[in-house]
Amino acid sequence: MKYALVTGGSRGIGKAICIQLAKQGYNILINYASNKSAAEEVKAAVEQEGQAAELLPFNVANREETNQVLGEWKKTNVEKKIEVLVNNAGIKKDNLMMWMKDEEWDDVVDVSLGGFYNVTKSVLQDMVKAKNGRIINVVSLSGLKGLPGQTNYSAAKAAVIGATKALAQEVARRNITVNAVAPGFIKTEMTESIDEKEYKSIIPMRRFGTAEEVAKVVGFLASDASSYITGETISINGGLY
Ligand code: NAP
Repeated sequence: MKYALVTGGSRGIGKAICIQLAKQGYNILINYASNKSAAEEVKAAVEQEGQAAELLPFNVANREETNQVLGEWKKTNVEKKIEVLVNNAGIKKDNLMMWMKDEEWDDVVDVSLGGFYNVTKSVLQDMVKAKNGRIINVVSLSGLKGLPGQTNYSAAKAAVIGATKALAQEVARRNITVNAVAPGFIKTEMTESIDEKEYKSIIPMRRFGTAEEVAKVVGFLASDASSYITGETISINGGLY
């Protein structure tokens, strides 16, 4: 009855992570914001791998809703354990700082950083009790180097990298690891407005990455193979720093 909760599991990188973790023997809780039909497709793909999948729609930025949905799930599924949490849900609302609207700042920080806090807080206590858990945060190259036009996104992702390092030290004794993956340019709907032909020349590998290439590293961090790694951020960026 071991479960992995993947936020933003309906599309892109989150979808690939759901399928990868199902291949590794996890049942999957697929969180998403609104795209039910996409989430249903992921559920079918997980079931195809022989694992159970449940849809868990909620807005990770909304603390009350997150607590209500996860609290209700825990109450009605006492025999099931969330062993792996992947904080993947994220949005971007790019703008130069000078022109940035307050809601562009707030929305991006609320989903990436607020979402990390809301969901992790709700799941952590049970992991501590079980003395077992894996938390994997999907951050970004933006959070490591800062990218112009993305002060909101860079700040939110850098904050999650800091939180990853801090929380890793808090819970290491409880056999819980906390790590992050930092993708560069990955082909998903989030990057469909970015022209790969134009940008690939700056990437040493001369191509965008795939969601599956990110998911395999997340799978590694969820597996026993990474049992002595914690507080780490692994870049997946084709050599672009
Ligand atoms: P994507 O294709 O736009 O998918 C975003 C996913 O997040 C969807 O499943 C969406 O659900 C969900 N989501 C958005 N807001 C949410 C909210 N408030 N509550 C719950 N779920 C929410 O994005 P992606 O490219 O796969 O990105 C996934 C993660 O990787 C993000 O954290 C992103 O910042 C990070 N990342 C991406 C890249 C890249 O190049 N693509 C690079 C670095 C980092 P719905 O389907 O319901 O909308």
